[in-house]
Amino acid sequence: MLRRFYSYYIPHKKLFIIDFSSAIIVALLELAFPLAVQWFIDSLLPSEDWGAIVSVSIGLLLLYIISTFLQFIVNYWGHKLGINIETDMRRQLFQHVQKQSFKFFDNTKTGNIMSRVTNDLMDIGELAHHGPEDLFISIMTFLGAFWIMFAINAKLALVALVILPFLGWLIVVSNMKMNRAWKNMYTEIADVNSRVEDSVSGVRVVQSFTNEHFENNRFQANNQKFRKAKLAGYKVMSFSLSGIYMMTRFVTLAVLVVGAWLSYTGQLSYGELVGFVLYINVLFKPIDKISALMELYPKGMAGFKRFTELMDMDPDVVDVKDAVEVSSLRGDIKFEGVSFGYDEHKRVLEGIDLTISSGETIAFVGPSGAGKTTICSLIPRFYDVEGGSIKIDGIDIRNMTKHSLRSQIGIVQQDVFLFTGTLRENIAYGKLHATQEEIEAAAKRAHLESFIESLPFGYDTQIGERGLKLSGGQKQRIAIARMFLKNPPILILDEATSALDTETELIIQKALTELSKNRTTLVIAHRLATIRNADRIVVVTENGIAEEGNHDELIEQDGIFANLHRVQYQR
Ligand code: ADP
Ligand code: MG
Repeated sequence: MLRRFYSYYIPHKKLFIIDFSSAIIVALLELAFPLAVQWFIDSLLPSEDWGAIVSVSIGLLLLYIISTFLQFIVNYWGHKLGINIETDMRRQLFQHVQKQSFKFFDNTKTGNIMSRVTNDLMDIGELAHHGPEDLFISIMTFLGAFWIMFAINAKLALVALVILPFLGWLIVVSNMKMNRAWKNMYTEIADVNSRVEDSVSGVRVVQSFTNEHFENNRFQANNQKFRKAKLAGYKVMSFSLSGIYMMTRFVTLAVLVVGAWLSYTGQLSYGELVGFVLYINVLFKPIDKISALMELYPKGMAGFKRFTELMDMDPDVVDVKDAVEVSSLRGDIKFEGVSFGYDEHKRVLEGIDLTISSGETIAFVGPSGAGKTTICSLIPRFYDVEGGSIKIDGIDIRNMTKHSLRSQIGIVQQDVFLFTGTLRENIAYGKLHATQEEIEAAAKRAHLESFIESLPFGYDTQIGERGLKLSGGQKQRIAIARMFLKNPPILILDEATSALDTETELIIQKALTELSKNRTTLVIAHRLATIRNADRIVVVTENGIAEEGNHDELIEQDGIFANLHRVQYQR
């Protein structure tokens, strides 16, 4: 874990070296100052050599200035180092999450991902900066101070030494407890995030059932759990900080008393006594730092652990070693004995055989939950098949790169996701560097033109959270415009028109028919009228593909499809 943590320093070697060496020089100067003071009092003052006193004072002043400057570097560049590392980790985590397959998102709460990308990494920068540096410097100054203290007066140094085992014990025990506490805290804040995410995105449902009170209580339960977890951490921390404080003050007092006696009996000069007391401060500063680290380390490490947990989740749909880049596929799709289930306990598809030829429009109908969407999700490899294979143009899709495969497939669903941004940006999501002409042409073919013209800001209208709210039909047309830009040889329309009123549906149907020209098109439809002209209709039931044929043939067969047809048209 630690080695992995340190690997994040590698890209910032230079910063680290500058910061670290400055910190070492600052620490050495800190160690030297009390010695200088002691020498000043014991040797320089009695000599009454004012010239020397002045030049030594100026020398000290210079050293102080240098030390101040170096401390600035340690503070600023050290923090820069920490922030850089934090930013690197956050970037990697985001990229990693983007790579995950659908299964991951099926099983992971959004709030959980959010808090890992944001909160959890909050403390890591501080740890990255202070961790190795403060630890090293603290140990160095601590040992250095002890060594000098022994040189000044061994008896007095022993007095200070007595406290060490107690201090060590306190630090180790509270560190362990805090580790646990901060880990809990992060788990709880992730739950709080999930709750917020849930209630906010479901606010319409919440309010229509007037379940605000219920949601508040549910939220408050999580919030209280978080409070408890965080408080537990601070309790341990406060105990240990107070313990450290008490021990260090106790030692200072003991040294003063014993030192006074030693000085009274002539075993210690005044300069030595002053120097010694100053060294106690030098000695305890690292202890303060270490106790600060005691808060930082478990916090940062708890975050880092959650970071690595996520980083170690490999996406389960990946490119094979020599995956082929495909382009301009013809669009012959062949399912051979395809089996698939979302989890081990339940197969959704079993032994599906299906051949779709290039340019064909094939419609899937059947009861909801039969597996139509699942069949279509397998083609872009949102999930990988468990048994059998899917081939496009004779190549197993598992041997294609995910990127090239997906660039050949367009999907229009019932729910269209629009990003916060302008209308233009949302259309251009189908082809990121599309020109204005291309965007306009696509909008026109999607029958969006007159709508856009009616907007005061046209293509620059903000949509989503801060701007225009769009109707289902308008969203659907944006999705279609995206597809005209993307221009994929294979098209999947998953209940694209199911949520629309009949009039809007007609316009969109026209746009979709235009879109599906010269492409292999898979249509999932609820309303049978929309698939009247499909080249072939496939009836999917829980037991797999039940019927296959064109509209008239299926009516003729008088099976499931004919029955569905009767139900829809003879009310
Ligand atoms: P259809 O599109 O025909 O209505 P689906 O393909 O969406 O059916 O669903 C087929 C079955 O798979 C259903 O039993 C459904 O509950 C299940 N299912 C669909 N999506 C998921 C998912 N992401 N995770 C687990 N089970 C799923
Ligand atoms: Mg479906």
